[in-house]
Amino acid sequence: MDKENKRVLFDTVIVGCGPAGLTAAIYSGRARFKTVVLQSRLVASQVLTTSEVENYPGFVGAVSGFELIDKFQKQAESFGVEIVSATVSEIRKNKENFQVVTDDQIYDAKSVIIASGAQPKELGVDGEIRLRGKGVSYCGTCDGAFFRNKKIIVVGGGDTAVEEALFLTKFAETVTIVHRRDRLRAVKILEERAFSCEKISFIWDSVVRQIEGAEKVESIILENVKSKEKEKVFCDGVFIFVGYLPNVGFMKDFLDKDEKGYIITDSNMVTSHSGIFACGDCRNTSLRQVITACGDGAIAAQSARYYLEELMGVGYK
Ligand code: NAP
Repeated sequence: MDKENKRVLFDTVIVGCGPAGLTAAIYSGRARFKTVVLQSRLVASQVLTTSEVENYPGFVGAVSGFELIDKFQKQAESFGVEIVSATVSEIRKNKENFQVVTDDQIYDAKSVIIASGAQPKELGVDGEIRLRGKGVSYCGTCDGAFFRNKKIIVVGGGDTAVEEALFLTKFAETVTIVHRRDRLRAVKILEERAFSCEKISFIWDSVVRQIEGAEKVESIILENVKSKEKEKVFCDGVFIFVGYLPNVGFMKDFLDKDEKGYIITDSNMVTSHSGIFACGDCRNTSLRQVITACGDGAIAAQSARYYLEELMGVGYK
């Protein structure tokens, strides 16, 4: 497709269609800026793989990630925002505008809001890549149903690992959480639920050294980090939840990032490059939740608004 033939100038191009990007879109749309949200064809917002969000205010019990995103999208569209499926490969800048390059079009933009989120980290052990989709998974909501009455290993000790382990008990015969420490990082309420769940057991102070199986996962090799003893554990599935990496490859060296690769912003979501703002899980923040992503998105859109009004010479002082 000819990228040059379909050039459109937007006030704001938002990269990412999760809670941060869509909240920014709602604010940008209400400010009457010509706004487009680019939704990656390759990476879905993490919240879409979350079956139950129970800490987003306003929903007693829980709301599914899908339902939340659906509502956010419809709300953004009601303010005239376009939402387009397009994977961003690069962002450039000429004298006047930014060019957000996607797989089939270039979007010219006066300002850009990066809300591209993060994706699950790999464990980096032997057998992980080979057996991906054959028992190795990074998403309980996506793959849990394939493990009815099976033995599942969950790797990690954070909120995601414990929450997903609890979810997987709906299907599995047993869920064993393997954690490299002797206590969980996860929030207490999740810990309490996991400790009182009959299907869940724990292997502490241990790391996975290898995932084994000819055609599908059959077992893992664990190493106790204190005693250095190794142990083979038979299982049908290995679900890995050991943190996330920011989706910022398309930014190359355009923006300053921290040592883990997250985009550095100030408290107004302003990045090291004038006119580019970042919000949500892709930025250096201490808490990565739906509610904080939404807050970030609102602030990013507000900062973009001040930037655009200044650019247009219509700043309200
Ligand atoms: P996380 O908090 O970074 O936890 C990652 C876990 O994996 C840690 O327990 C870590 O061990 C372990 N780990 C990391 N690398 C490992 C390796 N190579 N081998 C073995 N274990 C390894 O990540 P997360 O649980 O995905 O959570 C990410 C963010 O999302 C957090 O801010 C969390 O609060 C948030 N979150 C919130 C909710 C909720 O509120 N319901 C749900 C999910 C996620 P150590 O503890 O030793 O570092």
